[in-house]
Amino acid sequence: MSRRTRRTAPVTCPCGLPAPYADCCGRLHRGEAGAATAEQLMRSRYSAFAVGDEAYLLRSWHSTTRPPRLELDPGPRWVRLEILGTTDGSAFHSTGTVEFRAHYVDGGRTGEQHENSRFTREGGAWVYVDGVSLP
Ligand SMILES: [Zn+2]
Repeated sequence: MSRRTRRTAPVTCPCGLPAPYADCCGRLHRGEAGAATAEQLMRSRYSAFAVGDEAYLLRSWHSTTRPPRLELDPGPRWVRLEILGTTDGSAFHSTGTVEFRAHYVDGGRTGEQHENSRFTREGGAWVYVDGVSLP
């Protein structure tokens, strides 16, 4: 038995939908499904932050804005995602925005990230472009 602790896949999906992780964002993380909408991609990226899937974050990032590499800060634990609003981003659109509030706990303190993210399609797949932080 290893005494090292490691992150294990959560049972309930971190994105907040009432589904097991394996059947929800886990399918996107494993590459078995693609996001149908910008909101679904946003949820899957939030879940990737929650489970520490850096590779998924990079491959769901637009090639022109993607950082060369990503090392997630192990501090914050992402505890809840609120989708506040969306524009476009459906199966019939090629761009979309998602405004969200992501709640975290870091060292016993709670915080939140409020952002309006922009999404587009690259090679047909929804990808994250960039985001504007909101107060
Ligand atoms: Zn999910």
